[in-house]
Amino acid sequence: MSRDQQILMQMLEESGALRRGHFLLSSGLHSSAYVQCALLLEDPVRARKVGQDLAELLRQFHPDSVLSPALGGVIIGHEVAAGLGVPFRFTERKGEEMGLRRGFNLRQGERVVIVEDVVTTGRSTLETASLATARGARVVAIGAIIDRTAGRDPFDVPFRALLELDLPSYGPADCPACRSGALPAEKPGSRPEAVAKPAAAEEERQSERVEPPADRAG
Ligand SMILES: [Zn+2]
Repeated sequence: MSRDQQILMQMLEESGALRRGHFLLSSGLHSSAYVQCALLLEDPVRARKVGQDLAELLRQFHPDSVLSPALGGVIIGHEVAAGLGVPFRFTERKGEEMGLRRGFNLRQGERVVIVEDVVTTGRSTLETASLATARGARVVAIGAIIDRTAGRDPFDVPFRALLELDLPSYGPADCPACRSGALPAEKPGSRPEAVAKPAAAEEERQSERVEPPADRAG
């Protein structure tokens, strides 16, 4: 781990952004650890520093703009755009569909980097990238504060993250915490009633599609 990565790790712990427990991630996976980047970015000075560091990793791709999925990517995307001196836009989900609203537009051939807080499965990142491509832009790279893909890089363009965190995550049926009958998985950063069912109940609903969360978390 480099000095910069050690500093980031320390900031994650000091800010309470790195939590241990039993969590349901927005990807539908369960994990014993969760990263709430909103707490890392709560301090604007820290947010600026992290954004500038990520901007330096992405500068080599010469982006014309930064695009991030709301809500998770908004603060860091904006800070990265500030660091690069380019415009920032965000996509948002309405029901199932990810869209570009509020009058935001992308130019034909515009070089776009997609910036996220945490990438786990890459689902919302990929949806954001598809949206940009469908509108004629060119996605030149993906950036994130934290890479939780554990080496399963889901992208076909360069992916740069400030820190790789290999925090194990599991399908609900394989989750050790569920199997041990521990507390139900907590869905962090969402409404209090949104608590995951333990695996036993989950198995009956295996064929059902995992409901996408209202906001990005993990
Ligand atoms: Zn579990």
